[in-house]
Amino acid sequence: MPEGPEIRRAAQRIDKVLNGQTAEAVVFGQPHLQDWAQTFTGARVLGVSSRSKAMLTQFDNGYTVYTHNQLYGRWFVTRRGHPPDTQRNLRFGISTQRHDALLYSASDIHVLADEAVNSHPYIAKLGPEALDSDTTWRLIYNQLIAPQHRRRRLSALYLDQSFLAGIGNYLRTEILHDCGLHPAARPMDLSRKQLGELARASLKITRRAFDTAGVTNLPSRVKRLKAAGSTRSRYRFSAFARAGLPCYTCDTPIEKITAGSRRLYLCPTCQPE
Ligand SMILES: [Zn+2]
Repeated sequence: MPEGPEIRRAAQRIDKVLNGQTAEAVVFGQPHLQDWAQTFTGARVLGVSSRSKAMLTQFDNGYTVYTHNQLYGRWFVTRRGHPPDTQRNLRFGISTQRHDALLYSASDIHVLADEAVNSHPYIAKLGPEALDSDTTWRLIYNQLIAPQHRRRRLSALYLDQSFLAGIGNYLRTEILHDCGLHPAARPMDLSRKQLGELARASLKITRRAFDTAGVTNLPSRVKRLKAAGSTRSRYRFSAFARAGLPCYTCDTPIEKITAGSRRLYLCPTCQPE
């Protein structure tokens, strides 16, 4: 499932072709939304942005279209009139003079008045966005020691969008491995130094994933592995999906466990209990 960095990259790619453009045609695939097409045809797109794993397309008619890809949704950007070769169902489409931006398969789509966006149930519960430039490590530090978070295991916190928006399963493994913390640890068990390192790593790793289209491993290590002929699936992560392979830091085999019904990888030496 795509995480915050992948959704934000997709939003930027779509924003590039839609921002400031007039929607010459708009399609809503689901019957209950089809009457809205008229309201959006001829409206100008003010911008496409992401909030955690949701995307917001704002128009100059006072409305924003909320879309959440969930597991199956997929955006395509094409030259106008050149639809992708796919058997998927079109759920939302915007045609400008030159381009089509087309969302297939996703069903979680809502038309919201601009002033209702922040009270949409998914948006309303989001914590600070790891990818927003005004989110600082101190803000994450304060989230970690907040009364509602400090007694929870890191493995649970790092899947919770109300703790930190935009994180997700591979980022959870990579952040905890980066700062050598066991997933069962709770913020209240950690020193101030450890909390500070965790807060900084949370931003560093998530922003690295955005910059590199999903590569969270140490940049110098990636460079070395690439030079040695490694494929992306081999150099991409420091621990995620590396069960049985040696930890890059200490050579101990990486272990795979399940936490919160999702797979999690750790180095028992670097991340002692
Ligand atoms: Zn290790």
